[in-house]
Amino acid sequence: MNRFFKLFSLLFLGILLSFTTFNDKKIIVIDPGHGGTDLGISKNGILEKDIVLDIAKRIKALNKNENIEIVLTRESDAATTLTGRTDLINKLKPSMVISLHINNSKNTETTGNIIFTKPETFDFAKNLASNFGDCKIEEANLHLLRNSKSPAMLLELGYMSNETDRTYLNSEAGKDEISRKVIAFINEH
Ligand SMILES: [Zn+2]
Repeated sequence: MNRFFKLFSLLFLGILLSFTTFNDKKIIVIDPGHGGTDLGISKNGILEKDIVLDIAKRIKALNKNENIEIVLTRESDAATTLTGRTDLINKLKPSMVISLHINNSKNTETTGNIIFTKPETFDFAKNLASNFGDCKIEEANLHLLRNSKSPAMLLELGYMSNETDRTYLNSEAGKDEISRKVIAFINEH
């Protein structure tokens, strides 16, 4: 009986500890845009939904910080509604949300990054922008920003319409470099 009680106490302590550890972790949500039949921007068979998912997975894999838990809004090529995304975000209550997208322009010369943000996340956006060379910050009234109770930003990783950006975004080196810039920013916070 005594031994049983000891075992039970140990088990209970274990559960308590793992629960505490989980709660102590800072949750960061990475939201790869689009998915399923929603391809996002596509050009020459290169799909926005695939590139942003690939980069999101790399960011998660690069996270070696045991105080940070990275959660993706989709782990596969799944159709995920905007409401589904923000419902998940508001349930997780992360300290930050970064949504990943690729831009498009009629002008094929247009290049560079843009961070769309809300006023209360402007400082976060400035820090993230400093990790990218050519990066504008703009306020935008987007569903994900408006309906996330957590600080949220939408990062446009470059232009599908620009050949240099597209080649970079579709390359191993490009995807790796972008992921490292994002994880560096996450680790600074
Ligand atoms: Zn998009």
